[in-house]
Amino acid sequence: MNYKNPDEHGYYGEFGGAFIPEMLYPNVDELQKNYLQIIESEEFQNEYQDLLKNYVGRATPLYFARNLSQKYNTQIYLKREDLNHTGAHKINNALGQVLLAKRLGKTRIIAETGAGQHGVATATACALLGLECIVYMGEIDIQRQAPNVARMKMLGAEVIPATSGSKTLKDAVNEALRDWINNPVTTHYVIGSVVGPHPFPDLVARFQSIISKEIREQLKEKIGRENPDYVIACVGGGSNAAGTFYHFVEEKDVKIIAAEAGGLGVNSGKSAATTFLGTLGVLHGSKSLVMQTGDGQVIEPHSISAGLDYPGIGPFHAHLFKEKRAEFFSINDEEALQSAFELTKLEGIIPALESSHALAVLDKKRFNENDIVVICLSGRGDKDMETYLKNL
Ligand SMILES: *Cc1c(COP(=O)(O)O)cnc(C)c1O
Repeated sequence: MNYKNPDEHGYYGEFGGAFIPEMLYPNVDELQKNYLQIIESEEFQNEYQDLLKNYVGRATPLYFARNLSQKYNTQIYLKREDLNHTGAHKINNALGQVLLAKRLGKTRIIAETGAGQHGVATATACALLGLECIVYMGEIDIQRQAPNVARMKMLGAEVIPATSGSKTLKDAVNEALRDWINNPVTTHYVIGSVVGPHPFPDLVARFQSIISKEIREQLKEKIGRENPDYVIACVGGGSNAAGTFYHFVEEKDVKIIAAEAGGLGVNSGKSAATTFLGTLGVLHGSKSLVMQTGDGQVIEPHSISAGLDYPGIGPFHAHLFKEKRAEFFSINDEEALQSAFELTKLEGIIPALESSHALAVLDKKRFNENDIVVICLSGRGDKDMETYLKNL
């Protein structure tokens, strides 16, 4: 059984594929035919790895959190994606995809963003590599995330409001897809998570897989073995989690834990816990678990963290869930907040609210004293200060 790679049509078990309007076919087909050959080429890897090292600041540390370990009586390591340039794991993917777009001869980049983190990462990569950048963002998110909108503008991106539907992330995705249909030759769509039609889930997972590649090397150096007992990550669409799990999914001795946003509680009507609430459906071009009504209308998700506020989940994760290869926890807003305050107090690290959902698993599951537990700290908390201050 291979969990890591989709089949040639982009399926992870029954999930994935490419459900796209005919008008999008040329764009997606071009990507499907070329992405592996380009990103695996030596020339591409040389440029990408050089940028990851000297521009992004990789390898990110694998930090043994002594105080947190003491509190939970186990061995906790934090993978510090919060120390990347622009403050989260998203730059790993944005840089990779913009480099790929250049090699496909594209001059114009579009992206969607919810909290603005992916928009900032994409605008950053475009500034660096000299491509035009257009970011679609829900009108409501533009109001909620003013600092990131300012960053994108300073970086030279044009931010276009999505004014349809609930005026949030899923509407921004729809606008971006519409733009791509209208500009197939010049434009590449940089999707921000392991979602979308094949090959995006695989493409994004490969760019994020640097996270688990480094964890293995760093554990080997620190404790003499490559495999931890547990890896834990939060799942919105699932890109930081896919990167954290990637080189471990075929390793039977590594247990995998995913943390979803429970919002106000899975049965509250205000939640984003897709594996608990979702059913088989098609969202944004792939078949996966989707929060939807009986007649297939998407249900508005809720999470205190904008990065987890998504009504779907990548097909890779839906497959891990279905096959019980990963254990899923749903973490409520309040629990995530408490974990953020706890990490700050014990370790002097202010985490992103998204990452705090992964940390909150420490309160839900008992680990043994000698277990090696690696948690992906997907991003830093600067963007969440307003929410933290309101809840202090
Ligand atoms: C966007 C974001 C997430 C959620 O996205 P995934 O694709 O699920 O990783 C998690 N953490 C941070 C810090 C983010 O910015």
